[in-house]
Amino acid sequence: MRTGYDLELVHLTKRYGETVAVRDLNHVFAPGSYVCFLGPSGCGKSSTLRMIAGHEEVSEGSILLDGLDVSHLAPAQRGTAMMFQNYALFPHLSVRDNVAFSLRMKGVEKATRHARANDLLELVDMVHLADRLPAQLSGGQQQRVALARALVTEPKVLLLDEPLSALDPFLRIRMRSELKRLQRELGITFIHVTHGQDEALALADEIVVMNNAVIEQAGPAREVWALPRTEFVARFIGGHNVIALPGGKVTVRADAVRLVPEGLAATVTAVEYQGASVAVTTRTESGDEVLALLPEDQFFLAPKSPGEAVQLNWDEGRLHRLEA
Ligand code: ADP
Repeated sequence: MRTGYDLELVHLTKRYGETVAVRDLNHVFAPGSYVCFLGPSGCGKSSTLRMIAGHEEVSEGSILLDGLDVSHLAPAQRGTAMMFQNYALFPHLSVRDNVAFSLRMKGVEKATRHARANDLLELVDMVHLADRLPAQLSGGQQQRVALARALVTEPKVLLLDEPLSALDPFLRIRMRSELKRLQRELGITFIHVTHGQDEALALADEIVVMNNAVIEQAGPAREVWALPRTEFVARFIGGHNVIALPGGKVTVRADAVRLVPEGLAATVTAVEYQGASVAVTTRTESGDEVLALLPEDQFFLAPKSPGEAVQLNWDEGRLHRLEA
């Protein structure tokens, strides 16, 4: 059995009147991977996703799926499926009929489509609630139904637009491991739009960071986190300090900064307890803000408060130079 299909964006551009929402994207997605599009609101993530899905016209460029230019095909003809943020379930249809809906549209006969819907409900552990209406389900359960409904067409690529944003934090973490499991089991590419860097780091084989309508950096999650290419990526992905040195800007990971008896002089501006670690924000004499993320046991050996003078240090090898 083959795992995954090639998906490629070629000079993909989206304009809304004068606004360029997506500018000349060129990208090849690894087949069968979990991809997260990460970036601030308005950077063009959803427009890109909607163009891949066929819910938005391409202004220029093309989308190739499994070697075929699908840029101008109808959504149902592309081999993609989309799961929307608000799930968009039909309120008057049972869970089973919601899942079977697109098969009904294709003229699949009832027994077959119900059997297929049941298979998908099994996959998301919802068979026991197949006869309920959407309003009789919790948010997490509605999401499972929406997933089953998107997957019933056996898409080559599943597109997810902020799929976890409507869930409470506890459920969000549970559902994200379910999404990851599903993607592994199905072996198809998932493209998941999020503005949460934790979510992207937890889920993605590949993170595509967007900013101002372009791809700022793309790569394996660990690589993007450990080696941000630009100041924007370093700040957006979190956990890094950006410091201006004579040769240009560098980053140093917050967990690489130590408080020492002798080092770079700074003043504590904030202390935040985070459980396993304590985040100590400081300001150096030259005005740079430097965050030190200290293991909590280490912090409480010599606790600091805002206003206190401290000395900072890190190993030279932990500095990482950013592109200008
Ligand atoms: P994101 O998903 O990263 O928040 P979007 O793709 O939704 O970003 O939006 C990118 C840019 O395109 C924004 O400037 C947004 O205001 C604009 N935009 C999005 N949809 C439309 C639309 N239907 N009409 C006009 N402008 C739009």
